[in-house]
Amino acid sequence: MSKPRMDGKVVIVTGGASGIGEAAVRLFASGGATVVIADIQDEMGEAVAASVGGGCRYVRCDVTDEAQVEATVEAVVAEHGRLDVMLSNAGVLHPTGSVMDMDLAALDRVMAVNFRGAAACVKHAARAMVSRATRGAIVCTASVASCQGGFGPASYTASKHALLGLVRAAAGELGRHGVRVNCVSPGGVATPLSCGLMGVSPEEMEAASEPYNVLRGKVLKAADVAEALLFLASDQAGFVSGHNLVVDGATTAVNPAVLQSVGL
Ligand code: NAD
Repeated sequence: MSKPRMDGKVVIVTGGASGIGEAAVRLFASGGATVVIADIQDEMGEAVAASVGGGCRYVRCDVTDEAQVEATVEAVVAEHGRLDVMLSNAGVLHPTGSVMDMDLAALDRVMAVNFRGAAACVKHAARAMVSRATRGAIVCTASVASCQGGFGPASYTASKHALLGLVRAAAGELGRHGVRVNCVSPGGVATPLSCGLMGVSPEEMEAASEPYNVLRGKVLKAADVAEALLFLASDQAGFVSGHNLVVDGATTAVNPAVLQSVGL
């Protein structure tokens, strides 16, 4: 299969200033897309946009504020005449404690970005696509925490399960307009989000997760996740909608303890 091309496509990437989002910005732009980075880290966002060059630019957009999401989408459509892809990727992971001591204010902050923020992105991207009859694609960055417990605090797991529900519901509703909605669920990737939580360097995080990997001889990188995001956003996935593309080297497909117990 040839590499997906994004020539002429107009793309918004939330959380595009860092980590997986940044890798996606670079990959989409290298495939010919005009990419708008929507984030709250201004210096980093500006720097990524400048280094990508071409039509790539940064706008400040806090996804917890629906008005900012709406204004960002409207500005992009006003400038480029269309929105082809919304990559709703911004996310946070706060240590909210065990469920028995859960910090509910921190739970609200996690839900505000990971679920409510993504809902605002899906809503306003869908409006822009449907009103202009654009056969667009909405792709959300979920997580292996969208389909199993134990990969992070309950707040994070709940937010990603909710996001998966949103993706499936939106795919059902928007299909009649030709708009596809999918998500990618990565396993652990060394980014500021994951390393910050564990208080480790990227190298330490990769070394710490290696023994738990089912697939050996390779470490999951932000660039690998970006490839999955690109596929779902591209015309090559033209009949894929409502899908959760898990990128975890089979970690959620098997129970490693059972594998070991049966000698496999
Ligand atoms: P990251 O911290 O490198 O990037 C997250 C980006 O989101 C940052 O640039 C941040 O400024 C931005 N952001 C946070 N709150 C925002 C807001 N309110 N409005 C706009 N932007 C905001 O982390 P990452 O690992 O690249 O995370 C990207 C996505 O991948 C997240 O949704 C995360 O849950 C998901 N994910 C990460 C991992 C992992 O192990 N790193 C695994 C599975 C899923």
